[in-house]
Formats: sequence, structure tokens, C-alpha cells
Amino acid sequence: MNHIASRRQFLATTTGTMLAYGFSCSTSADVKSQEAAREPIIDIHQHTTYRQRSNETLAAHQRAMGVTQTILLPSGSTVRRPSTGDGKQNGLGGVGAGGNASVAEMARDFAGEFLFGGNEVTDLPEAKDTIEKQLKAGAIIIGEQKFGVQCDSRESQMLYALAADYQVPILLHFQHGAYNLGFEFLEKMLQKFPKTVFIGHAQTWWANIDANHKDQSVLYPRGAVTAGGITDKLLSDYPNVYADMSAGSGLNALERDEDHARGFLERHQNKILYGSDCDDHLGVGPKCQGAKTIAALRRLSSSKAIERKILYENSKRLFRLS
Ligand SMILES: [Zn+2]
Ligand SMILES: [Zn+2]
Repeated sequence: MNHIASRRQFLATTTGTMLAYGFSCSTSADVKSQEAAREPIIDIHQHTTYRQRSNETLAAHQRAMGVTQTILLPSGSTVRRPSTGDGKQNGLGGVGAGGNASVAEMARDFAGEFLFGGNEVTDLPEAKDTIEKQLKAGAIIIGEQKFGVQCDSRESQMLYALAADYQVPILLHFQHGAYNLGFEFLEKMLQKFPKTVFIGHAQTWWANIDANHKDQSVLYPRGAVTAGGITDKLLSDYPNVYADMSAGSGLNALERDEDHARGFLERHQNKILYGSDCDDHLGVGPKCQGAKTIAALRRLSSSKAIERKILYENSKRLFRLS
């Protein structure tokens, strides 16, 4: 066989093989998007301009993870007051997350692929009005609320009521000593605002899956988990609270005790939502915590049905997405 003939032979064989696997002459990006269409994933927790990442890089990161729809959570205004650590925590804990205008703009530029929330520093007098304006412009969630206020503060309660009025969830970052203080008072808020959907996120939320979690200053506890912690109970007892799987805290909660995690995912299979909150540029590999969380959820879900609920169906239902 001469060179040209062998190349023709090679192409014919390769194409035949690809067709046999259901691929046309695809690039790996096409293959990825075909996979994504079969098994869509909703990521409820991302940020624009996160550690200066561009919108194009963020979009590529999400596609690389296999995510088909992403909810962008804005920061509040840049202000110096105690609830923003005198300005040090602006941009959601100082990571440079973009605000209301930034997320709305990206959702417009990547229509269908990106959706957005509305947010403001909880205790700014104009917080309710600012968020309401964003809701009227199409925001589908309030958050990420990550400010130095009590989670049962008067100002927080105004936003819980607003969330119920607009029938959108509110996402709270619970971090002992820093944000949404007084985690033990969350239960009272769930009772007082039964029409508000609360989504719990971050260290203190996840550390309290463990009934033996005593020292609240430990933010990333390791080792075996005893089921029945505050978080576990709230998810069981209140229909209006959901769990956001995102960030190192969510991944740690899965990895620290995988036997416990299997039962936890099974118990709360209708209440757990996939989120990434990850800031790398690749969307694959060891640095991508979002991809690791997807892999852990696939590994630890005891059925395909549970995996699909957590990666897609629960969020589709909750946010009324199509
Ligand atoms: Zn976040
Ligand atoms: Zn990542």
C-alpha cells in the first residue's frame, strides 16, 4: 500500500469506528457537548471575575466540567463597614467576585448557558431595593449572602421575606466567626419563614453534618461522621432547606467519611444541589475542585437516579429551568 492509500484506509477505519460509537467526525469539545446533552448538569454556584478569571475562561471551565447551565452569584456593593470587614471582605470574602451588573451581563452574553442572582450587603439600608431591582431584571436567586451579620438579624429577615415574595431561594454562606453568625438560630428562621427556600453552604453548614461536631471553630473537620448533626436534622425536618454541595467544605463533607456520605446522599437525595464555586481555569484535573465534587457525587450516589437528581433534576425543579 502506498502512503496515500494507507492514509485513506486509516481515515475510513477511524471514521467507521467513530460512527460505531455514535460520533461523527468530532473534535473532543463536540464529544464533550454530546455527553453533556445526554447528562446535563446544573451548577448553582459560580462567580464572575473570580480571582480575575475572564468570562470566556469561566465558560470554558464550566463546559470542561460537563456543566450545561450555571447560576452566577454576585457580590454586594463595595463598601467599608463592619459587615464587610471594613472593606477587606468585599467581592465575597475578598476573592474579587463580580456584582449584580457583572453577572447579568455574562448571562446576557451566554444566554441559556448562564443564569444569575441578585445580591447586596445584608445590612445596607438599600439592600432590599437593590436586590428587588435585580429580581425584576430576571435574577432567580438571592445570594451569595456572605456578610458579617447574624443569620437571624432584622436585615437578614427582610431578605428572607423578599425571597418568599419573589419565590426564589436565598443562598447563605455559614462560616463560624465570619459570615451569617449564629448558625444555631437558622432553625428558628426556617420556622418563621416557611415559604422561603434556604440553601445552606460553606464550612459551618457542612461541619455540622456530624452529631459530634462540638468545636465550631474547626471549619474543615476530618474523619468519621456520626449521622444526626444539626445540618442532617434540618434537612430531614424542614422542607424549605436545601444543601449546596459546592466548595472545599462540600467536597470535604463527602470525602471525610465515604460510608456516611452514601447514606447522607440517599437520605437527602431530593434536597442536595450540585455547585462548584471553584476558581481554577481548567475545569479538569487535580486543581479543579468542581470536577472532583462531580466525580465524588457519581462515586457515592447509590443509584444513577440519585446522581441525576443531585447533579441536575433537583435544581431544574427548584429553579424552574427548562
Ligand atoms: Zn461562592
Ligand atoms: Zn474548577
